[in-house]
Amino acid sequence: MKKRIAFFDTKPYDKKSFDQYLGNYDFEVTYFEAKLTEKMAVALHDFDAVCAFVNDEITDKVIDTLEGFGIKILALRCAGYNNVDIKSAYKRLTVVRVPAYSPYAVAEHTVALLLTLNRKTHKAFSRTRDGNFSINGFVGFDMHGKTAGVVGTGKIGQALISILQGFGMRVIAYDKFPNEEYAKQTGITFVDMDTLYKESDVISLHCPLNDETTHMINNDSISTMKDGVIILNTGRGKLINTKDLIDGLKSGKIGGAGLDVYEEEDKYFFEDFSGELITDDVLARLLTFPNVLITSHQAFLTKEALGNIAEVTLNNIREYFEGGYLPNEICYQCDDVCSKKLNKRCF
Ligand code: NAD
Repeated sequence: MKKRIAFFDTKPYDKKSFDQYLGNYDFEVTYFEAKLTEKMAVALHDFDAVCAFVNDEITDKVIDTLEGFGIKILALRCAGYNNVDIKSAYKRLTVVRVPAYSPYAVAEHTVALLLTLNRKTHKAFSRTRDGNFSINGFVGFDMHGKTAGVVGTGKIGQALISILQGFGMRVIAYDKFPNEEYAKQTGITFVDMDTLYKESDVISLHCPLNDETTHMINNDSISTMKDGVIILNTGRGKLINTKDLIDGLKSGKIGGAGLDVYEEEDKYFFEDFSGELITDDVLARLLTFPNVLITSHQAFLTKEALGNIAEVTLNNIREYFEGGYLPNEICYQCDDVCSKKLNKRCF
């Protein structure tokens, strides 16, 4: 019998990319447009597996409900898993993810944000279409020779670094686990966070969101940064204390912010609110700054990434049901894929 998968937060591009691969699998997928929440979870009695995305809420209560229905596998079609109560899932729910679908997609989007903010091409586009060929107010800066501070030098951080080096930027980086061999090969320098804040013209965040990194960009860290610094966040919204970012923008300390993620994005991102009021005053204020560019968590959205996400997610689910090795299982103890390559959680 086909395994039945409940697929949440479905968008047309998700359905298209998954449908392209489904013929190779013995699965029956039901696509729900709704997000997975505690209320939605009660409808899952007829399913064998759940597929969720970044803003689905896999809380302790949702996990209780899934367990009650005998659902033992949650397949995230994303890399980050800060929206899953991993402690609660331990021994009750196997959680798999797609650790890398296209670091290039995210890195390239980060650079798109930077170039747009710097050279104001979004405004130039509107002006020239309006018959306005003035270039007043469009002064940018050469990226060549400037210093970029990259926080987190994993797959995305490294893809970004190679692009920034192509511009002739000096790259400094912070990583909790610095890879000195990589630094030697690429000519970047690992520094502590204080130095990164002090020396960077552009700061870009590519570390995971956890207790250590929540609100790492706040009034204290901002006060140590260069005047006019550009902050880029395609990592997770909560890496930045948004109210403090707004203070920094208002004072002129921060020269620009390119954000693909936002602390409270789950309420708005991916949906069309163009005909409604935005009641989130922090988001509404952010949207008023001429030097803030917000995209709606779209950094991953390339054809290549969507194809990889579909294939890896479906393979993850198949491996689970076939009892094979799950290389993409999230390990509670390692806080990542099990470093010991065990087939089970390693404690
Ligand atoms: P990765 O696991 O390859 O790299 C993360 C790096 O962060 C690692 O080198 C790790 O050592 C480092 N790190 C861990 N804790 C740290 C800390 N406290 N301070 C500094 N560095 C730390 O992950 P990745 O694939 O490069 O993805 C990075 C993040 O990007 C993900 O966690 C996810 O939140 C985000 N992401 C966003 C999108 C998007 O569409 N906007 C898409 C994919 C991933």
